[in-house]
Amino acid sequence: MKVVGVDVGGTQIKAAVFDLNGNMLKSTRAPTESRLGKERVLSNIVSVIEGLFSEDVAALGVAVASPLDPVEGILYYPPNLPGFGVFNIKSFLEERFGVSVVVDNDANLYAYGEWVRGAGRGAQVLLCVTVGTGIGGGLIHGGNIWHGAHGMGAEFGHITVDPDGPVCNCGNRGCLEAMASSYFLVGYVERRLREGVASRLAPLRGVLEPKLIYEAALEGDTLAHEAFAVVGKNLGVGLSSLINALDPDVVVVGGGLSKAGMILLEPVKKEIYARTLKGIRDRIRVETAVLGEFSAVYGAAYLAIKIIGGDR
Ligand SMILES: [Zn+2]
Repeated sequence: MKVVGVDVGGTQIKAAVFDLNGNMLKSTRAPTESRLGKERVLSNIVSVIEGLFSEDVAALGVAVASPLDPVEGILYYPPNLPGFGVFNIKSFLEERFGVSVVVDNDANLYAYGEWVRGAGRGAQVLLCVTVGTGIGGGLIHGGNIWHGAHGMGAEFGHITVDPDGPVCNCGNRGCLEAMASSYFLVGYVERRLREGVASRLAPLRGVLEPKLIYEAALEGDTLAHEAFAVVGKNLGVGLSSLINALDPDVVVVGGGLSKAGMILLEPVKKEIYARTLKGIRDRIRVETAVLGEFSAVYGAAYLAIKIIGGDR
């Protein structure tokens, strides 16, 4: 028997078929085409799954970047999938493919993937943040995904780190997401360049992206290092509060920005050490994610394996 894991993002659908031991057998990806509306997106999801589906497939695991009800499999107004509104993707896919379907938030499944087979393998309490254009969060406790009372738990991107900080996508001010995302990193560098700070990034004003800032940091650019230090500090401030509240044994930092490795993680660790309680700070492990951009696909597949009672 096999399972298929799917990660439906705003720009890409990623998917893979796995055996019941959790080994990825074949992967694929396709554009989501979210601008073309709900019917097109659903047809793209179905095509991607059909490309991997066979009679051996016993379940589907689906990760979606959306507030959702993980029990019923209902999405609530996914911000990156306009036109979906309230939609039961679990029923839709179960009717289409005739197998069990399990649905969860992409950041939760990213964390779950890292818990099963990544940097947080076997952690008792795994705290995970995905740092990209936004910041997602996941908390795995005793091998289970923490959903909270309304399926909205572990939205770590929206804890406040500066009450007077910039306005976040959620409407609040100074959320972690508004202070430590790749969007913030780029904005910070752009602002410092406007202030006249010397940097090899100066000619790239207006077309900056995290990768270019990372490369400049590797080449010893002071401003690039400063920008990662500020983002790392903000992230470390947010994580410290979460660590003091939740007492995890492992913290996994994933998402696009985590590709910067120690350039991001050093200031994060420094801040965590300075701000967390003495009983915790020497015993906590802070790691970058290892499963890469298919993390949520792994997590979705592992959850599918779990519901059909297979081994990982
Ligand atoms: Zn927010």
